[in-house]
Amino acid sequence: MSHLMNTYARLPVAFSHGEGVWLWDTEGKRYLDALSGIAVNTLGHAHPRFTAALSEQIGRLIHCSNIYQVREQELLADKLCGLSDMQEVFFCNSGCEANEAAIKLARMYGHQQGIESPAVIVMEKAFHGRTLATLSATGNRKVQAGFEPLVKGFVRVPYDDLEAIRQVAQHNSNVVAVLVEPIQGEGGVRTLDIEYLQQLRQICDEHNWLLMLDEVQCGMGRTGKWFAFQHTGILPDVMTLAKGLGSGVPIGACLAAGKAAGLFKPGNHGSTFGGNPLACTAGLTTLNIIEQDKLLAHTESLGQFIRQGIATALQGVSGVKEIRGQGLMLGIELDRPCGDLVKLALAQGLLTNVTADNVIRLLPALVMSQDEAQQLLDILCPLIKEFLQS
Ligand SMILES: *Cc1c(COP(=O)(O)O)cnc(C)c1O
Repeated sequence: MSHLMNTYARLPVAFSHGEGVWLWDTEGKRYLDALSGIAVNTLGHAHPRFTAALSEQIGRLIHCSNIYQVREQELLADKLCGLSDMQEVFFCNSGCEANEAAIKLARMYGHQQGIESPAVIVMEKAFHGRTLATLSATGNRKVQAGFEPLVKGFVRVPYDDLEAIRQVAQHNSNVVAVLVEPIQGEGGVRTLDIEYLQQLRQICDEHNWLLMLDEVQCGMGRTGKWFAFQHTGILPDVMTLAKGLGSGVPIGACLAAGKAAGLFKPGNHGSTFGGNPLACTAGLTTLNIIEQDKLLAHTESLGQFIRQGIATALQGVSGVKEIRGQGLMLGIELDRPCGDLVKLALAQGLLTNVTADNVIRLLPALVMSQDEAQQLLDILCPLIKEFLQS
């Protein structure tokens, strides 16, 4: 009997160590990791320069408290703002916490304008986390069921439907912000087109709303740009990051600019661990290595290579509905539930994932080589064909 709370249907495998995109289980079997701990291990496993920088930091200082100045935090905030054109950052420890900060910012913003019951527009099939506020913002009943009453103040609209947002604008004067994932991760690797985001930016400006982008999964270089919004030419008012930011060390961030900047004052928000020297060194080192090793360009081209490889291998195979995504955030939608593929792939030494019931999701580390990507294709594509024909 395990003493763990039964919150995960875990696969019967445990890993002892990794290197790059490879993991070894406790029996010594090797796996190609195409999931990266769900978009977390940006630099793969045991990256030598990352390991060295973190070891050095651990030997010097892990934690001190936000009642003091934290130099590593300021350096990481400077770097993130430089790369994103945002203005200020609050550091926390996870994606849901980053979104909690964003939701609190939106409410604070509303209250400052005399809106006593501020509301945030959120999307169907969205995923924003599992705290009470973020599960309420999430558009998946399975995540919410059993935890009612939900937190109030969210208005839900269909993803990729501007008209629905314009309708809300006409009827609800309490709206203060829109919270949206530029690419839905858990929702099935669904992408918004550039025009949608540009027009959403316009609508937010017209109504004086904050545009808040949840880039917890799609940010940090995963799409081939630092942040997914950078494919569109717009700038959000708030952006949240987490998963890939620390290459495996827990860290989240809520970034603000323009009318969303300067809202929090001392005492409004905080986190004991948030932005400690170890976590911030992990973030800084991740960003530096992405830059030094030109991993954004690599992500873009490797993503195209994998996508093309899948499209070629699965051409004309009935049951494949769509191949989508951007950079190294890719989804293959089948016409049927395909959760069993995860176990079949595992048996063949490939770690992948299925989300939204019928979407195979690939989130390899940004350091994957083309040869490794070819090995991924060589295992995955025949497996999908076989699965669809059985
Ligand atoms: C994973 C995820 C979250 C929640 O992050 P946690 O670190 O698990 O709290 C929020 N938003 C998106 C888009 C995510 O993919």
